[in-house]
Amino acid sequence: MDRYIEKIRQAMPDGDIWIKESTYAQTEGLRAIYATAAEKECLIVDGCKAFLFEGETVNGIKICPLNHINRLALNMEIGYTRPQSIGAETASFGCGDRLGLANEGQLAAVRRTRVKPVLAQQSLRELDLTGRSYDDVIDAASWAVFKAGYREGYGADGDHLKTKQEVEAALEHGCSMITLDCSDVLREPPVQAEALSRAYDQIPDKKRLILEEEYRNLPHAASIGVTYTRQTWMEVLVTYLDALELAEEIYVELIRSRGRRIDYEISLDETAHTTSAAAHYFVARELKKRHVRISSIAPKFIGEFQKGIDYIGDTEDFRRNLRMHCKVAACFGHKVSIHSGSDKFKVFPVIADETKGLFHVKTSGTSWLEAVRVIAGSSPDLYRRMHRKALEHLDEARSYYEVNCDMSAVRPLDTAADDELPAYIEQVDSRQLMHITYGILLNDTEMHDAIYEFLKKNEKIYEMQVKRHMEKHLKSLGCL
Ligand SMILES: [Zn+2]
Repeated sequence: MDRYIEKIRQAMPDGDIWIKESTYAQTEGLRAIYATAAEKECLIVDGCKAFLFEGETVNGIKICPLNHINRLALNMEIGYTRPQSIGAETASFGCGDRLGLANEGQLAAVRRTRVKPVLAQQSLRELDLTGRSYDDVIDAASWAVFKAGYREGYGADGDHLKTKQEVEAALEHGCSMITLDCSDVLREPPVQAEALSRAYDQIPDKKRLILEEEYRNLPHAASIGVTYTRQTWMEVLVTYLDALELAEEIYVELIRSRGRRIDYEISLDETAHTTSAAAHYFVARELKKRHVRISSIAPKFIGEFQKGIDYIGDTEDFRRNLRMHCKVAACFGHKVSIHSGSDKFKVFPVIADETKGLFHVKTSGTSWLEAVRVIAGSSPDLYRRMHRKALEHLDEARSYYEVNCDMSAVRPLDTAADDELPAYIEQVDSRQLMHITYGILLNDTEMHDAIYEFLKKNEKIYEMQVKRHMEKHLKSLGCL
């Protein structure tokens, strides 16, 4: 490395260069390091594979911008910069970064733990609302990993995908994790007994009778406390059979054939009903029978997991509920995944206990809120503009996200002094207001540019803030 750094210094004798030595990476035919030259971020490469990168050659070294093409080349040559499967045996944490500026702060928090980060994690809804693409999101994560010199591996999650086309697109762009959102194929079981029987009888005999026979007597399930009454059995079959078929089809057609390991998560959480242990057991057992390899299942838990605020419900009820899901997951060797995990401090210790530290927790909007917090603290005018715009468009944002957020509980903006603005991020209703309106704020070009300009100028403060907030999550989850 020293010789390489010496070579760079000789090539740039005017001293207008700062080199981050911890990012140095070497592989056959390539040496690469992160630097800033004339205050511009760059990747400096040399070696016979330098031709793969786009950039300017100066005295035998190549100075390359941190763009998409160079990210792809870096991914190809330096393995740890590429999203990769984390597997079912390692705890993982979905970071999500709506702005593409939070990954470094997230990495700074995670690198002190045994938890692997899923740095890129976007649903199509989030991509749409932020006007970003999978490429943008994975570019940001790859560069952050390289700049941080983080070599432990990270994931990229095509989150809440519902169709084959969506999964295919996410995989094409390099996602290492697929979260299949089954909500479109989860059927709502009829409440009335007769209607339930009718729905049940409509399932083709061939399938229904075989399964009935199999599940009539399952000592294994009973041994962990999972039993099927006639009614729960009918409900489970009516609700989950179509979801199973979709999960299998996608696995067989798109995932297994890919030739690389993919973390496959089955999400059952975007529905009105809590997922019973009997349902979880059925889905997991059927997937195993069909040789569908999954890394996690996300049940819908008891209580409410609303965006950006703490858990609503009884913590002990949640503990009992989670305990059953963990028992089922342990039987089949996958992780329990907890969605909308931002700021659920009341239940994090329960999650740590019951999963014995083996979990997948997804957060997404919380690093955006940290950005809003920094803005509220240092740029009152910008915060006021954002707050007003968010209020104007609250109804629109509510159509994407289900939240309580009661605006009558929010202090009118014109009564708050500048130094009181950060309090809006603490108060749950205004917190949710800013949490769910990110798409509206970022789609307003003028506001978008003002937000980015501010955060880029205050990059280090934002990074520290994200790190602090992520550490709070990880500490509460027993990882720090
Ligand atoms: Zn979800």
